[in-house]
Amino acid sequence: MSVRELVVLGTSSAVPTRHRNHNGYLLRWDGEGFLFDPGEGTQRQMMHAGVSSHDLTWICVTHFHGDHCLGVPGVIQRIARDRVDHQVQAAYPAAGEHYWRRLRHATSFGDTAVIVRRPVSGDLVEWPAGPVTLTARPLSHPIESYGYRLDEPAGRRMLPGELARRGVHGPMVGELQRHGSLTLPDGSTVTLAECSAPRPGQSAAFVMDTRLCDGVFSLADRVDLLVIESTFLSAEAELAAAYGHLTAAQAGRVAAECGVRRLVLTHFSERYSFDDEPRFVAEVRETYAGDVIVARDLMRIPVPKRDTAPKRAP
Ligand SMILES: [Zn+2]
Ligand SMILES: [Zn+2]
Repeated sequence: MSVRELVVLGTSSAVPTRHRNHNGYLLRWDGEGFLFDPGEGTQRQMMHAGVSSHDLTWICVTHFHGDHCLGVPGVIQRIARDRVDHQVQAAYPAAGEHYWRRLRHATSFGDTAVIVRRPVSGDLVEWPAGPVTLTARPLSHPIESYGYRLDEPAGRRMLPGELARRGVHGPMVGELQRHGSLTLPDGSTVTLAECSAPRPGQSAAFVMDTRLCDGVFSLADRVDLLVIESTFLSAEAELAAAYGHLTAAQAGRVAAECGVRRLVLTHFSERYSFDDEPRFVAEVRETYAGDVIVARDLMRIPVPKRDTAPKRAP
């Protein structure tokens, strides 16, 4: 069965706290495993979450502040030690190549050849990644930072009632899907369009350290799942602006304007405790009425079920 869920490994910005590990997020998507921003302690959090090094197919680093990448050495050395035998792609800002090299070869270990570098530069980078396209776009932070997005291509879902009505069954269904039309025994022709309906692709976006900028809105546009930093509440908006971060209110505004289906807030300043979580939700609710989750370590958050309802006219 295909699994599409976010496994939250850590939710703290800058420094870990007693209740929150440094960042770390695994997005499981069918057979792929996208590990975003492995901060310090990610390897152990993976163990707590029941995630194996063999589950990883991509490591995506938004930028080279420690809370987003200090887990890279441990994760890569674990991949080597566990003899992971499939390729693991590693995307990161090309401007931080020197940091990548230090993290990649931080200590002496029996190295692995499965890590494939995918340095990111420019305004838009796309890679095929199993069943999805992975996109990177620049964000706005004191050092170069990129956000990521996954898109499943749109497809079609078969309509069993219509297939039965036309007498299409067994191997004929596969033939109809492959060729787009089929000649029935009575000589009539049935088309794929008659027996199927459009199936929108699913999507997810991962937006870490940034101010509001075009990249944020492009990445979040109509995604099913948006994981976004909300380091501060609005009372600290000046700090957020000074250090290149978002407030919960801004994250909510992004979700509302972009038509996001499920919003996950994370990357919290250590000044906040669990008791402050309702304040984050309240700020989001000023603009966004959809599903909002304040992430905690080791949560598992499903990608919402496919939205097959006909789209309303804007
Ligand atoms: Zn950070
Ligand atoms: Zn940062």
